[in-house]
Amino acid sequence: MRIVLLGAPGSGKGTQAKNLMADRNIPQVSTGDMLREAVAAGTRFGLQAKATIDAGELVSDDIVLGIISERLTQPDTADGFILDGFPRTLQQAHDLEELLDSLGTPLDAAILMNVDFDILMKRLTGRRTCSLTGKLLNVYFSPQEELDECTNAGGELIQREDDNEETISNRLDVYRKQTEPLIDFYRDRGSLKIVDADGTIDEVYERFTDAIAPLS
Ligand code: AMP
Repeated sequence: MRIVLLGAPGSGKGTQAKNLMADRNIPQVSTGDMLREAVAAGTRFGLQAKATIDAGELVSDDIVLGIISERLTQPDTADGFILDGFPRTLQQAHDLEELLDSLGTPLDAAILMNVDFDILMKRLTGRRTCSLTGKLLNVYFSPQEELDECTNAGGELIQREDDNEETISNRLDVYRKQTEPLIDFYRDRGSLKIVDADGTIDEVYERFTDAIAPLS
């Protein structure tokens, strides 16, 4: 199964992609995660990307296309992938189409994780990762026991540097202007599916798997 996850920052793309990866063994390909790895590794490219990410702006289309082209030719993606956070501009959507055509592996669907804008802010400002397990948590929505489980084991609840209010509102603006047009791009190709992504992680996962059931 080859799918793209579309949706604003905080719509739950990463969480649901990780769930599906665990369930079906399909790799999650997240340009955001790959860029953060480059930043953490301190490569020259990573340091350049850091300023852009911290400002909530988009890294250039050429750079992310390079990262994606390399990733999608690795053997673990041969039977499918979940693209999370790519494409994010119309140029990237065209580039992806061209790349997949050349590989002979077209997309099965683009799934839009649809959430009201006012809910996104709480999801993003409350988002934390447990430093011990990498588990994604939220100080507003996760059960207190899950938050305590991390801190009682000596872990820290880490906030992404770009999850502060100023950067978040810029990321949401960038999404509206540059990424939302992709909804029509995939609708025109007949490959758009919309999932109501407002609800608990389990509720949304059920709707998500229902939406992709005809593809498997
Ligand atoms: P994410 O984890 O998907 O929210 O991505 C975090 C940040 O990485 C974004 O705010 C951008 O700065 C950068 N980024 C991730 N994916 C892309 C992409 N497809 N195109 C451009 N920049 C990206």
